[in-house]
Amino acid sequence: MTHPNDLEKANFKALIEEDGTDRIQERLDIIDVFLGTEAHITLEEMVHLLKEKGYAFDPVFVAQCMNRMVELGFARKKQFDGQPIRYEHRHLGRHHDHLVCTKCGKIVEFSDEHIERCQLTVAARYGFHMLQHRMEIYGLCSDCLSRRQRLMPLAAAKPGERVIIREVSGGRTRRARLAALGLRPGDTIEVIANSGQGRIILGHGHTRLAIGRGVAQVIMVALDQENVRS
Ligand SMILES: [Zn+2]
Ligand SMILES: [Zn+2]
Ligand SMILES: [Zn+2]
Repeated sequence: MTHPNDLEKANFKALIEEDGTDRIQERLDIIDVFLGTEAHITLEEMVHLLKEKGYAFDPVFVAQCMNRMVELGFARKKQFDGQPIRYEHRHLGRHHDHLVCTKCGKIVEFSDEHIERCQLTVAARYGFHMLQHRMEIYGLCSDCLSRRQRLMPLAAAKPGERVIIREVSGGRTRRARLAALGLRPGDTIEVIANSGQGRIILGHGHTRLAIGRGVAQVIMVALDQENVRS
């Protein structure tokens, strides 16, 4: 059975051969790798992926080839708010929209008939003949949401708990002061003593630290899940 990607490749080959493009085989290698990934991929990631597959192509050549795929309708160029330009497959006759996580950058595809129909109705109401649309929903993905829900101020952590520093609010000065203590987002710390008032004693690597309650209110932590499981 012919794989749909083979049909896409043959179609691409026919079109680029027709207009006398050079380096046909190399371009076919690029489209092959591109069709093999379902990611919304940046140029940099594409060059990296090609390298993993054993192709050391010049990024300029890859960019040119990607843009050719866009022109010929095999790829679509997308730029979501706050993100670099990405390429995705363009499947004929199929349409989807996107959910974008503003925290981790995750992109989820969806299609909803009701939304599609609504957009046509709205356009028609204003006398528009809709040619295309961009429907992007920005927010927190389920992973980021559950991570956020699990966040608590360090001041609320119980003695014996191992927690991971996630965020430090309260401005640059405060973050710098914590960094001076050797504490950074991503660090795991152990709460040694926290009586609910006064200083909190922490274990960090091989050091014990005493931190004021005020500061402990602005350090947001999450339980160390590995610790919970063990
Ligand atoms: Zn849509
Ligand atoms: Zn996310
Ligand atoms: Zn997509």
